[in-house]
Amino acid sequence: QYQGLTGLRNLGNTCYMNAVLQSLCSISPLVEYFLSGKYISALDKEKGEIATAFAYLMCDMWLGEFDCVSPEVFRLVLGERYPTFLRKTQQDAQEFLIYVLNELHEALKKVHKRRCQGSTSTSWESRTCTSETSIITQLFQGHLSYDIMCLECQTTTYKNEIFTVLSLPIPYESECTLQECLDCFFQQDMLTWNNQIHCSHCGTNQDAAVKASIAQAPKIVIFHLKRFDCQGSYKKKLRTEIYYPLNNLDLSPYIYPLVRKNPKYSLFAVVNHFGDLDGGHYTAFCKNTITKNWYSFDDSQIREIPESSVQTGPAYLLLYSCQAFSIPVKTHNY
Ligand SMILES: [Zn+2]
Repeated sequence: QYQGLTGLRNLGNTCYMNAVLQSLCSISPLVEYFLSGKYISALDKEKGEIATAFAYLMCDMWLGEFDCVSPEVFRLVLGERYPTFLRKTQQDAQEFLIYVLNELHEALKKVHKRRCQGSTSTSWESRTCTSETSIITQLFQGHLSYDIMCLECQTTTYKNEIFTVLSLPIPYESECTLQECLDCFFQQDMLTWNNQIHCSHCGTNQDAAVKASIAQAPKIVIFHLKRFDCQGSYKKKLRTEIYYPLNNLDLSPYIYPLVRKNPKYSLFAVVNHFGDLDGGHYTAFCKNTITKNWYSFDDSQIREIPESSVQTGPAYLLLYSCQAFSIPVKTHNY
């Protein structure tokens, strides 16, 4: 049996978890970080339980000694902190993914302190800045920059934000392209009424125009297609067919001009959601680094699929990388 082709047992509506875990297990640099035991030196012993359980699960899933393994231990440890994931009800795969990435980051982060100049309105002062890095920030973290322009005095201010997942609006009902979703996310937006900004130049609240761009593109970019439209008690699922490229996704139109490079991204995993809001079923399509083929992961069932099947109507999360993955090697004894 090939490596990285291990099914996951369904523990009662845990397909959302299985689909996300399979997608994470197709990220070679992440898998290798655990297979090599590198994570051990970074691990915060106090809050390392979830990351340790994740490491063991990734090894079991990657090494391929069994046709199917159970994510039970990982789920129990995660459930101690987030009891939602112990329930036998369907959860949102995107929320689960964010919880897992946050937990791994918290357990594996390194805090860097440095002196930096900060300005107050009256003087420059020296203060300490901290930044946190981990395998998660190295792989998934990007920076967005927002240009916010006061429409009264035209003064522009900037705001930065970090992201690990980009939640993209779906602009059309029946079909559209991923580029159209990206255009919609990165288009200029007006802040009026309750969303006005406080302009320090005018000294009052004013209407403003805001435009986001990518100030730093991540190595791995995760798109969350906002299919679940919830406004108050009104909920619906958008079943728009979204066309996405398998190769050569160009993010440069959305990258801040001064830092513009030309990274081209290739798709390596898709999380699909079938059915309705509160039930439904999740599966994952992942590309295997060894065979270079695509596989469908449906809990314990795995089957090879042709590349032409990777474009699919139920796509919910899309994972792209700007670097080709090499085959992860196990160098640590568990
Ligand atoms: Zn102003």
